[in-house]
Amino acid sequence: MQIQKTGEPIRVRADHGIEVPDHPRIPVIEGDGVGADITPVMCKVVDHAVSQAYGGSRALAWHPVAAGGGHRRACPEANPLPEETLEILKREVVSIKGPLETPVGGGVRSLNVAIRQALDLYACVRPIRYFPGVVSPVRHPEDVDLVVFRENTEDIYMGIEWPMGSDEAQRLQRFLNTELGVAPLRFPSTTAFGIKPVSREGSQRLIAKAIQYAIDADRRSVTLVHKGNIMKYTEGAFCQWGYALAESAFGARRQAGQRGLWITNPVTGREIHIRDMIADNFLQQVLLDPAQFDVIATLNLNGDYFSDALAAQVGGIGIAPGANIGDGTAVFEATHGTAPDIAGQDAANPCSMLLSAEMMLRYIGFHEAADLVLAGVRGALAHGFWTPDLIRAAQRAQGHAQAEPAVTLAETGFALHPVGTRGMGEAVILYMDVPGALG
Ligand code: NAP
Repeated sequence: MQIQKTGEPIRVRADHGIEVPDHPRIPVIEGDGVGADITPVMCKVVDHAVSQAYGGSRALAWHPVAAGGGHRRACPEANPLPEETLEILKREVVSIKGPLETPVGGGVRSLNVAIRQALDLYACVRPIRYFPGVVSPVRHPEDVDLVVFRENTEDIYMGIEWPMGSDEAQRLQRFLNTELGVAPLRFPSTTAFGIKPVSREGSQRLIAKAIQYAIDADRRSVTLVHKGNIMKYTEGAFCQWGYALAESAFGARRQAGQRGLWITNPVTGREIHIRDMIADNFLQQVLLDPAQFDVIATLNLNGDYFSDALAAQVGGIGIAPGANIGDGTAVFEATHGTAPDIAGQDAANPCSMLLSAEMMLRYIGFHEAADLVLAGVRGALAHGFWTPDLIRAAQRAQGHAQAEPAVTLAETGFALHPVGTRGMGEAVILYMDVPGALG
């Protein structure tokens, strides 16, 4: 990692697009737990990709910033999420972070949620795709290629809730009963409450990002996934506001005899189907027939459940990347947590962080470098360079948990090469340098 405080700033234009110099400054939060293992590997791999792609005419200037438990251990009185860190993330526009631990107890809220809310990073974007060679628990993981757009700032994640027996819970109960005519609750003295705020603006700005992504990436459908049959005014409204936005902002129209709406992609001329699906039906359909899904737009809690379940379908959270994006400002991050049980052992899989960096490179327009990172990860995984989590997942999927990991990969025919975090980084660099490594 070449730590520089030089470099130039990225700027957000009035239309929320970004202007990126050739040497952009990128704040990086190392993260807690396995963050110290995977973040330096990510920086090394990205530096290599950028150097290979641009031969020195472009480079990233990493700007390490403080956050989380590691930073607090060095300075025990420090705020785990200093104001200065939030200011830097805002000012420099695009950054990347390792996982941050949420201290248990003491009423401390998640630093990750705090960053998303402070920077108004309303779209959590999580691509879920299959990498050849990785063993999956489903028969046709290659049919999974979708991108989840999860609303990031509303829903029950706002943390408006009161515990059982609290004064607030009692007052709210009286208010519901006397002012709003809600029937008495079944267990009035032991009921806790949570509030689920969902707004039209909040829903539509997220759905607009999903539809715009479908246009830019030439995808075939956007599915609004909700539980509107039960939560009519929150999840149901999310769906209705989505259709209304598709009509008013993207010119969507009906087609005789078909459900949903259709948009003609202004760039490619292909049709994009805007449709909706109830969440429980979605969860079974995506297992049985994942090929029918492309872009998913959903609410905060649903999106959290979906993205981990879908990641498991293609090989686990160790290879699932993510981004939190607002109006220009973006923070890219591994989707997994700090995995404290394997921290510091050179055993964590760095691919989630590497693929998050690939997303970041694309976001700033460094597409050639992004292609190299992707080719490197694909090549390393397909040629059997696997970290312990992938080996365990393969053993579970093949039903022999105690067996030796020296299996031949059924799909690609390559032998298995067990690697640690750093070894995986080296393998990614190796396959980045092999032209056309498995596409
Ligand atoms: P986790 O850290 O994601 O770990 C769950 C399990 O997943 C680990 O025990 C490990 O399994 C496996 N795992 C996760 N990342 C891996 C990697 N890179 N390589 C290999 N295996 C990996 O979830 P958690 O234990 O619920 O959360 C721990 C802490 O992380 C909490 O403080 C939580 O708040 C925080 N967290 C942060 C974020 C974020 O920063 N965005 C997200 C989620 C959780 P094995 O036990 O099989 O080794």
